[in-house]
Amino acid sequence: MKLVRFNGGRIGVLEDALVHDITATIGLNPAAWPPVGMVQLIASFDSLLPRILMQMIQGGIPEKDIRLETPILWPNKLIAYPVNFTAHGEERNVTLRADTNGFFLKAASSLSGPQDPIILPELPGREVHHECELAIIIGKEARHVDAAQALACVFGYACLIDVTVRGKEDRVMRKSYDTFTPIGPVIVTSDEVGDPSSLDLKLWVNDELRQHANTRDLILDVPNMVAMASSVATLYPGDVIASGTPAGVGPIRAGDRVTIEIERVGRMSISVKQGSGGSNQAIHGEALR
Ligand code: MN
Repeated sequence: MKLVRFNGGRIGVLEDALVHDITATIGLNPAAWPPVGMVQLIASFDSLLPRILMQMIQGGIPEKDIRLETPILWPNKLIAYPVNFTAHGEERNVTLRADTNGFFLKAASSLSGPQDPIILPELPGREVHHECELAIIIGKEARHVDAAQALACVFGYACLIDVTVRGKEDRVMRKSYDTFTPIGPVIVTSDEVGDPSSLDLKLWVNDELRQHANTRDLILDVPNMVAMASSVATLYPGDVIASGTPAGVGPIRAGDRVTIEIERVGRMSISVKQGSGGSNQAIHGEALR
């Protein structure tokens, strides 16, 4: 099943280019704040499924007539793995690795949708890079799960771009600008994706293929990413884990279009725009005293 958020926080199921609106079916007020509707749906998915399937018998709205939004926002955690493909570690000339350094967090407020642009901060002389990643969406509360049990905790997957300002400042700050985590275009449930151990990932900037890899080359695979995260923190339904990027990262600039495609997960194309602001003392390297 492919789940979407659209038109101001409504939730739907995408099937055959039609969006079936299940907002009322699942008792969701799309205007409620905080916007946790998708998190609630994931947490109660098994019990809501019969009602969702009944609603899908009704007609849907053509996909072209709706505006897709970030399929999930306001997760409890947005976890991200650093260098998780050996070739990316080599191109960045770092010894940091997901298996020996573990994960970090990005601000969840950096999540944005498949029809939202990446807004570049105003940081003269700095490069902002694309990182092509698989998003793992947690479905069940998980604590101290081992790798053999981990896939049972996964609800689904999405495409994710981990946008990053290159530099020496703390990674969390450089990766947490608003719109720096486009995710989507949908959440595909794990039953549709099947085995996540051999998915092809591609990322283009305009027409240039910049990244092409396969999840079989991950250092920490999907079960081990979930297991490691759950060894530290309780994972909750809706939590997002970004897989780490393969080699081929590079700069994006205003006017570019970044396209990500993951086998059986989806494809989305994101525009890049120049914003204003975003600099601070850390970026300038000016100590207060
Ligand atoms: Mn990354």
